[in-house]
Amino acid sequence: MKVFVVEDEQRIAQFLKKGLTEKGYAVDAAVDSDTALERIVATSPDLVILDLLLPGSRDGIELCRELRARGVRSKVLMLTARETIENKIEGLDAGADDYLVKPFSFRELLARIRALLRRVEAVEPGPLVFPDLSYEPESREVVRGDETVRLTVREGALFELLLRRRGKVVSRSEIQARIWEDSFDLSTNIIDVYINALRKKIDGGDRGRLIETVRGVGYRVRDTGAAEG
Ligand code: CA
Repeated sequence: MKVFVVEDEQRIAQFLKKGLTEKGYAVDAAVDSDTALERIVATSPDLVILDLLLPGSRDGIELCRELRARGVRSKVLMLTARETIENKIEGLDAGADDYLVKPFSFRELLARIRALLRRVEAVEPGPLVFPDLSYEPESREVVRGDETVRLTVREGALFELLLRRRGKVVSRSEIQARIWEDSFDLSTNIIDVYINALRKKIDGGDRGRLIETVRGVGYRVRDTGAAEG
């Protein structure tokens, strides 16, 4: 599970980063809203911990609103020293999922995070079904017409990521961050190798190309569902 911390107070940011890393979360962080916006859009973390008062061109509420406007579906836990009900309502209206007032205990933060991430895990279980194909994440089987192919773990994760965002481009940096957790240099061609492997398995025969390359950006699974349905 990937957590992104947006907090300009060094002491709190360090404390969150260290504590959450020790609890097994992959933690990334930014100290201003502009860097945060760019990084969160690029990496789609599972959870964003967002301080309300931030340097940069947006405060926490504006940043949250902008993330939602850009289609970011990460859970957002807002932090603030202000505890008026107006702030809480404003934050939730902006698209935050929960709210924690400073000072808070680390134990309480962890409990809130677990509750939010349980909701993430509960999203869309079971097979992904489209008119022209289906994919079962558990068995990693793709069914297209009367053909069934089994994907490897990594191929499956990559295909599922593209399929859940069907019709939309998924950037190479997001693929790298989500599937390989930033463990290699983007200049290597490992993503291309996996895309080619997927195409061999799924785009074989005369079915037409399903996985499209968007030059200089990333990849997209072609959305033919509506037309064929
Ligand atoms: Ca702050």
